[in-house]
Amino acid sequence: MKIPLSNPDITAKEIKAVTEVLKTPNLSFGPKLDEFEKKFAKYIGAKYAVAVNSGTSALHLCIKSLDIKEGDEVITTPFSFIASANCMLFERARPVFVDIREDNFNIDESKIEQAITKRTKAILPVHIFGYPCEMDKIMKIAKKYKLAVIEDACEAIGAKYKGKNIGSFADCGVFAFYPNKQMTTGEGGMIVTNSSKIAEMCYSLRNQGRDQGMEWLAHTRLGYNYRLSDINCALGIVQLSRIKEILKKRTRVAEMYSGKLRNIEDIILPAHNICEIERSYFVYVIQLKEYFSQRQRDSIITKLKNSGIACNKYFPAIHFQPFYKAMFGYKKGDFPVTEKISGLTIALPFFNNLAVKQISFIEKKLKQIIREVKK
Ligand SMILES: *Cc1c(COP(=O)(O)O)cnc(C)c1O
Repeated sequence: MKIPLSNPDITAKEIKAVTEVLKTPNLSFGPKLDEFEKKFAKYIGAKYAVAVNSGTSALHLCIKSLDIKEGDEVITTPFSFIASANCMLFERARPVFVDIREDNFNIDESKIEQAITKRTKAILPVHIFGYPCEMDKIMKIAKKYKLAVIEDACEAIGAKYKGKNIGSFADCGVFAFYPNKQMTTGEGGMIVTNSSKIAEMCYSLRNQGRDQGMEWLAHTRLGYNYRLSDINCALGIVQLSRIKEILKKRTRVAEMYSGKLRNIEDIILPAHNICEIERSYFVYVIQLKEYFSQRQRDSIITKLKNSGIACNKYFPAIHFQPFYKAMFGYKKGDFPVTEKISGLTIALPFFNNLAVKQISFIEKKLKQIIREVKK
C-alpha cells in the first residue's frame, strides 16, 4: 500500500468549471476573479478580498500595504512554514521571533510584550495546522502598543475563534490555496481586510502598481504581477462552494485517526477543540513523547516512508534554516519550545478521502516502527 501525504479533492464540478473558462476569452482578469473575491469575502466575513497567485504573495502585499520597511520589526513565531517570516525579509524588515505554546504550537501570547521594541510595527500570528491563536489577547496587546496585526490563516480556513472566522480579526488576514491546503486553486492566495485603504493598495500592487480604473499601461507605483488567473479562480469558486463538505470530511478523518492512535502511549495527538475554539484540519501532526530523540523521530519517518507511508517533519524551526542562522546568528536554545516540538513531530498522510483501511494500515505500521526504534 502506498499512501501520499496529501491529495486534493477535485470533482467533476471543478473540472467542468475550469473547462468552461477555457472556452471564453477571459483567461485572466475576467469575471471569475471578481466572483471568487466576493464569495470569499462573504464566507470569511470581511469587507474585501483580494486574490493573488500564492499565499506568499498575499503575505508580501500585506507587509507592503502596512508600509513595513527596512529597519522595522514584526513579531511572529519560528514554528511555521518559512513564508510567514520571509515576507518581512522581502522588504528588509526583521522578523522577531517569539516562542510557541506547548499545547497548540501557536505564538505564546504571554511572551509577546517582552519582544516589543520601538521598531515593532506589527504582529503576525500564524494559526498553525489550522488551530486558532488567542486572537482576543493578541488584538489587546496590538491595541495597547498601536501595532498592526496580520493573521497568517493559510492553514486555517474555516477555523473559528469565539464564533468568528479566523482571518477576520486583524487588519488583514491571509489564505493560501496550494494543493495540500484545505481548498485549492492549484496555486493561489487571498488577502481579506475591512480596510478600503489596504484593499486598494493590494489591488494595485498585485497588478503592476495600477490603480483601479486606470489604463492598462499607467502605473502609479512599483508593483508586481501577483494576479490569479480566471482558470484558478473558477477552481476556487467550486472548492469554496464545497468548503463545508470538505471541512467535515477532514474532521471525520482526524477523528478516525485519533480514535485509532489514542492507545499508542508514546505519542501525543493533535490539539483538539476547546471552549469557543474550533480548529480546521490542515494536516494531522502527532508528537512523540519527550523521551524520544530527534534522531529516533527521523528514523521513524524514514521507516514509515519505506513502508509506503508518506510523512514529513512539520515544521523544521525557521531560525535554524541556513540563511536565517547566517543573517541573525541564531543558536541552539534560542527558542526552546519550538526546537523541542520541531524535533518530535510527524505529519501523517491526511486528506479528505483517506480510507479507514489506510488509517488502520498506518496505525499498525506506526506502532510496529515505534516499538523497533525504542529498543
Ligand atoms: C502554505 C502556507 C503559506 C503560503 O504558501 P504558498 O505556497 O505561497 O501559497 C504561508 N504560511 C503558512 C503558514 C502556510 O502554511
